[in-house]
Amino acid sequence: MQLIDGKAVAEQVKQEIAAEVAKMVARGQRAPHLAAILVGHDGGSETYVANKIKACAVCGFKSSLIRFEETVTEAELLEAIDRLNRDEGVDGFIVQLPLPKHIDEQKIVEAIDYRKDVDGFHPVNVGRTCIGLPSFLSATPAGILELLRRYHIETAGRHVVIIGRSNIVGKPLANLLMRKDYPGNATVTVVHSYSSDIKEQCLSADIIVCALGRPRFLKADMVKPGATVIDVGTTRVPSEQTKSGFKLTGDVDFEAVAPKCAYITPVPGGVGPMTIVSLMKNTLLAGSKAVF
Ligand code: NAP
Repeated sequence: MQLIDGKAVAEQVKQEIAAEVAKMVARGQRAPHLAAILVGHDGGSETYVANKIKACAVCGFKSSLIRFEETVTEAELLEAIDRLNRDEGVDGFIVQLPLPKHIDEQKIVEAIDYRKDVDGFHPVNVGRTCIGLPSFLSATPAGILELLRRYHIETAGRHVVIIGRSNIVGKPLANLLMRKDYPGNATVTVVHSYSSDIKEQCLSADIIVCALGRPRFLKADMVKPGATVIDVGTTRVPSEQTKSGFKLTGDVDFEAVAPKCAYITPVPGGVGPMTIVSLMKNTLLAGSKAVF
């Protein structure tokens, strides 16, 4: 069994991005600029945004954080998005989700200029990805592809089972793994909460991606020997062993499943760090006008 070290790969990719940025600056171009909008003070969102800003510094990007209180109106948020869309000094920006209930998230996502949509959530980017046109790839699926690539894991003709069909993980990943490219050319099965044969599907899978948010869902008797298991799940489970009082727990029963696998990602330290790195890659592409 080989552990897929997402943390180490993420560090390596950030160094590669920093080297690209240094070359851009040496050519007289400015460094890419990522802006982030953060609404409210949710602990998880604060941490995610702080990590994104930290990653920008490592990559040599300029970053700005625009904060709003929980009480911000949808109109005020749309105005801020409009300003960022028109600001030529900003290459890409994100609006950290989730947003307070009185704000229509889909409306916010669609208000972002798709040419600056480095999260890859705008329908134009989703659609372009789907038909194989240049686009900003959704961060978590792009991070998973990068891990498969760096560990030279074969996907062509392999059976990939994805558990979960969300718009940010399962659906875009299924699309990317069935495209005519590497990683891709896989036979992809997507299962969800209405599927009645999850165990049978998993047992025939060469690669299983768990993205359902149910701690330790994937058991050893659902995995065939030599399979690759990618664990996207990150559920905060109460724990007395940590200072924060919780422990990030994946969707895989890691201790039991790992010995059966050829490759497996840990939680934390697997897919998570790669998600931020994909955002950095999209920002580099936005800064160098490589997609649009
Ligand atoms: P989501 O929007 O809640 O979607 C969960 C999906 O799993 C749905 O399609 C749901 O089916 C399916 N599902 C739920 N329970 C199931 C069950 N018992 N059996 C089979 N399918 C089941 O979740 P998400 O946003 O994709 O996130 C999934 C997990 O990944 C979460 O733990 C999240 O925190 C984590 N995540 C991590 C990263 C990272 O960077 N590491 C990034 C994104 C998400 P239905 O469609 O039928 O409801």
